[in-house]
Amino acid sequence: MPFLVDKYFEIKKETEPYAVSLIAVSKTKPIEDLREAYNQGIRDFGENYVQELVDKFPQLPSDTRWHFIGHLQTNKVKYIAPFVHLIHGVDSEKLLIEINKQGQKINKRIDCLLQIHIAREVTKFGFDEIEANAIIEKYFGPNDTSASLPFVKIRGLMGMASFTNDSAIIKTEFLSLKKIFDVLKEKYPDRFDTLSMGMSNDYALAMEAGSTMIRIGSLLFGERNYHKS
Ligand SMILES: *Cc1c(COP(=O)(O)O)cnc(C)c1O
Repeated sequence: MPFLVDKYFEIKKETEPYAVSLIAVSKTKPIEDLREAYNQGIRDFGENYVQELVDKFPQLPSDTRWHFIGHLQTNKVKYIAPFVHLIHGVDSEKLLIEINKQGQKINKRIDCLLQIHIAREVTKFGFDEIEANAIIEKYFGPNDTSASLPFVKIRGLMGMASFTNDSAIIKTEFLSLKKIFDVLKEKYPDRFDTLSMGMSNDYALAMEAGSTMIRIGSLLFGERNYHKS
């Protein structure tokens, strides 16, 4: 299925009352679909496999902003560091340190979001509020110049709600993430500007709850076929 132009403009219109940017999640989709999206004005693309991102990157114009939205293995940071626009799912201290190391090598400060675990599903990925606070205090100090990981810039938080049709649960989870975000933003106003939450099934709830960035895949590109990879 190609890029769904009408759906894109419908969603874009829905986002207008909110201060939110739209990331087109193009994972598993062929480059022609991304080109179509690009030609309709999309510049932000989200991918979650390093190899796929590395392959696609040179095939779109250089003003494309590539977001890494998946779980990133430390040994793969070096492949995306030179061109990645924002790493959404930073979920460990080890990963932060590696991103800093790779950023230093190429003298680039890499924008990151800490992933916060808000869903009911058990997963090993993501920090809780206390852990996120501790990490930020430990490595980034009270202001920008006190950072001990100077090649990382924490711009905000990312989270995924539970996989459920119960919108009350999803709403509660998004609001809990927004609350954590607000506390941090108040503490570090010059640093925190991005709250990445909301996907195809729950972006309306996410925008209501104060998201600044939604990540939409299947609504724009059709259902994914995972069998191919
Ligand atoms: C795949 C993915 C999305 C997009 O999911 P859709 O339900 O297709 O919109 C958003 N965020 C993350 C982290 C993903 O892995």
